[in-house]
Amino acid sequence: MSTKIPERESAERPAGYQEPSLSPTGLEHIPHTFARGVHALMANMPPKDNNGLIVGSRAALLIDAGFTPQVARRLQAQVAELSDVPLRYLVNTTYHGDHTFGNASYPEEVTVVSSRANRDNMTDLAREKQIRSGHLPGEEALLDEVRSWRLPDVTFDERAEIDLGGRIVQLWQFGPGNGPGDTVVYVPDVGVAWTGNYITHAGVAPMLLQGGPEPYLQSLRKMRQTLPGLRTVVPGHGPMGDGPAAIDFLTTYFSRLLEEMAQLRDLEVEEAIAATTNPWDQGLDPSLSAALAAYGLPAGRAEKSMLEICRNLHRLNALATYRALYG
Ligand SMILES: [Zn+2]
Repeated sequence: MSTKIPERESAERPAGYQEPSLSPTGLEHIPHTFARGVHALMANMPPKDNNGLIVGSRAALLIDAGFTPQVARRLQAQVAELSDVPLRYLVNTTYHGDHTFGNASYPEEVTVVSSRANRDNMTDLAREKQIRSGHLPGEEALLDEVRSWRLPDVTFDERAEIDLGGRIVQLWQFGPGNGPGDTVVYVPDVGVAWTGNYITHAGVAPMLLQGGPEPYLQSLRKMRQTLPGLRTVVPGHGPMGDGPAAIDFLTTYFSRLLEEMAQLRDLEVEEAIAATTNPWDQGLDPSLSAALAAYGLPAGRAEKSMLEICRNLHRLNALATYRALYG
């Protein structure tokens, strides 16, 4: 069985599907320091976009640009507070606007880096704004400020390395995942990977946008083999978590979805979606619930909204799997 990877992100959504809100309103980034100069910048309200900052003796590198120019400017102010060397690199983990619309707000001397596949997908700003405005219900006008889409200045295919001065950062592209070019930023001596939309905390639903689970499974297996020292993943959205557990969760989830959907050939699409096992029917995995409770938002808000998001995403994943198998 092999699936064709579509060139463009699927715009199809199951009936009643709701995009998670990624509004930058109220967004703040709370630094979490793994080692000297290695910081996660965690959104105060999941699943809004997280970032990361890695600082060497000569240069600093920021992970993801911010959804809007305003967020990008705030991130730069935060970088200046946390680092006393100039920001020289900005890595886009995916081409999606919530990770790249801020690109144009960084000065020329900041080199934007991403995979070639991500750059190849940054051709149609109007379409991308249209898709991503679904994450800003009632606040679509925030994207009016996004007038140009600065492309990565430097791209790589499978692997790149950046020396920030006493601190080596690896960039990896393991194959199709959430998008065609998901870029993983890895600090090998600390065992921390920034994974964008590619890998989230174990128990968070992934998002299949570029074909079925098969290519994603292959990429995940490659990552598991390639980074044996991986300890922690800092996803683009939601809490950070144990790296191997996060990869294994996705592998198990996609394998089951693929197996189940392969038995549902005779059903109509909505029936087939409903017939798959939705792991979120019973609630959230306890370790994920604990990670979300740690955000300290009132009345279990983070847990409730994550559960809703995961149930929705599962239906989207089932739809994408159905389409990949049966068209
Ligand atoms: Zn994202």
